[in-house]
Amino acid sequence: MAVERTLSIIKPDATRRNLTGQINARLEEAGLRIVAQRRVRLTLEQARQFYAVHASRAFFDDLCKFMVSGPVVAQVLEGEDAIARNRDAMGATNPANAADGTIRKAFGESIEANSVHGSDSAETAATEIAFFFSERDIVG
Ligand code: ADP
Ligand code: MG
Repeated sequence: MAVERTLSIIKPDATRRNLTGQINARLEEAGLRIVAQRRVRLTLEQARQFYAVHASRAFFDDLCKFMVSGPVVAQVLEGEDAIARNRDAMGATNPANAADGTIRKAFGESIEANSVHGSDSAETAATEIAFFFSERDIVG
């Protein structure tokens, strides 16, 4: 295992319900350090760019609209094996299938409004971190 960084987003369904602190506590309990964090309201263009990999999917337009429906909290998480560790803490995409103890099981409202995003590989983590943060914003 190596120390990694990954990009996390607390999605609008969670900021709307004032869950930022509860989600951050779960991330920290999972062994992740929040080394950068910024609350932002994405533009539709930014949401479409961030999720461009899903542009051909039937849910793409709805997903982008959802992501601009309220503020999000973008954050860089750091820790041993942070990418997989965060995915484990998040749980399955569909909260109905997420394991007990995961963030999506606890807080997700639907397969779309599932409270958190997490990078899925080292390559996407680097791209997604750079989407929101410059190196000087990240304080390890
Ligand atoms: P994950 O966020 O677990 O990596 P994906 O990368 O497959 O999942 O999808 C990105 C996001 O798109 C999901 O977190 C969810 O918000 C939304 N999404 C995925 N699949 C669906 C679906 N079938 N219907 C509606 N929204 C979806
Ligand atoms: Mg994904």
